[in-house]
Amino acid sequence: MKITPVQAYKTNPQAFISQHKAQQSNVMPQHPINSQKPALTLVDTNYNQLLINKKTTNFTGINKTSLQLVKQIPLEDRLASMFEVFRRGDLIMTGKNLQEAKKAISNSIDMITHVIKRAYFIEDDNISGTLGFVKNFADDIEVINPNKFDIDILSNGKKETLKSEDIAYVLPNDILQFGETLLPIKDKPKTNLSAFRKNFARAFDFTQEVTPEIEKINKKNISSLGVEVRKKANPVTFKDVGGQDKLIDELKKSIIYPMKYPKGFENIDVNHGFILYGPPGTGKTHIARALANEANANFFGLNGLELESKWVGESESNWRNLFESAKENQPSIIFIDEFDAVARSRENSSNEYGNKVVDQILTLMSDIDNEGSEVYVIAATNNFKSLDSAITRSGRFGKHLEVGLPNLDGLKKIFDIHAKNKPLDPKVNKDEIAKRLFDLKASGADVKYIVNEAHSLGYQRAGIFEKMENNTLKDSDIDNFTILPEDIDKAIKAFSDSKQANTRKPIGYTK
Ligand code: ATP
Repeated sequence: MKITPVQAYKTNPQAFISQHKAQQSNVMPQHPINSQKPALTLVDTNYNQLLINKKTTNFTGINKTSLQLVKQIPLEDRLASMFEVFRRGDLIMTGKNLQEAKKAISNSIDMITHVIKRAYFIEDDNISGTLGFVKNFADDIEVINPNKFDIDILSNGKKETLKSEDIAYVLPNDILQFGETLLPIKDKPKTNLSAFRKNFARAFDFTQEVTPEIEKINKKNISSLGVEVRKKANPVTFKDVGGQDKLIDELKKSIIYPMKYPKGFENIDVNHGFILYGPPGTGKTHIARALANEANANFFGLNGLELESKWVGESESNWRNLFESAKENQPSIIFIDEFDAVARSRENSSNEYGNKVVDQILTLMSDIDNEGSEVYVIAATNNFKSLDSAITRSGRFGKHLEVGLPNLDGLKKIFDIHAKNKPLDPKVNKDEIAKRLFDLKASGADVKYIVNEAHSLGYQRAGIFEKMENNTLKDSDIDNFTILPEDIDKAIKAFSDSKQANTRKPIGYTK
């Protein structure tokens, strides 16, 4: 029978520790440490810093006798009991005393990629140092090691080192090891401790104090989103989009004509929500931008994945503010890229945050529909299937439009669009290039990349970069330069190789 690491530890802690010590010299498989986190914005950092600067007295007190009593409950159970009410925006700290814990966490606060709204502190004399726990966007529990020493994580019988001032997510059954002390991660305590939580966890709810300030900052950030398109000198239009004629036609009929000729649509139910779905780099964002320009509308572009670090605190009120702002600036188009990051299916998830946001978006969409405002919401995703069915079936996002890979003719047009201002040699055979790109299943973003790459390879071949380096470049060198078929050939070959090696993220994927 297979026993779990926790069972093994309970049966014979010493044997368990020495077994893992023996494993230490082996190469450990990668623990899923989240290394590529988006950087915190200044606002988030300030917000979290405020929390750290608060005095101990702001945490609700616990009387000494009850503290002594509850300290007899194993720390792992007290932590597990807190995990039961753990929300995104919470920070759970544990250590010998609150001041020390706050000092340690404040050294590592920049690693937390979202705003902390409530903080809890669990006092325990047995752990050396301090630990912090937060929930990440996917609802995983992350552990922060703010100590000057490393901590081991025993996960599925394997050991992994969590370095000082590093952060990793932990799963139930993982064990945090500080020297000889082991702290198992559980999702439930042995007995129900909910009635005692206030006796073992000091709490500090930060929300009330800062909400007005945060609202102000969010409103400012959101209104600055709206001016993006109108300010641009050479805005993209439908002429800059190749191979998506059917889609453009649909968007004209559904959005541009109702905006331009409202009388013609008085007796027609106008749909305000659209989902564009298809592979990366097919031009979903590009098309939405062009649409906003064609409609002379304000463009509110958001990215689902980045929202967490851009928006501070209450997500639902941010969505409300965004829609308010879009209504104040109508006609407007709200474009949400990576929509699955905010509206992913809740069937298999207890994601309280995601659920609330989905409900909030649907309510706001229904207001737009009822008020007949000139606000259109276009959501884009590479993964239509992962969207919450409440979104796809509600009718609020009534039109689902596929943005597929371009066909041969489309590729020719996209090539022309991106080569328009380039010095192409007359020997370049566009038909042949389009055929090769089609065979490689290239997207619009791939074509753009290849054209630019060919330009750069051409400069290399013609010694232009060298002349730039030696300060010997003349205007005539640039005037006489052309991109030759061999430059394009090389660029396509490099693209094809990297596609086969599958080492590169799809072009156009800028995150
Ligand atoms: P993702 O799903 O990764 O967000 P996307 O579908 O939104 O990708 P874009 O970001 O719009 O793709 O594409 C990147 C760039 O590729 C665009 O800015 C544009 O220059 C070019 N491009 C993509 N598709 C087309 C197209 N159909 N016509 C012309 N250019 C295109």
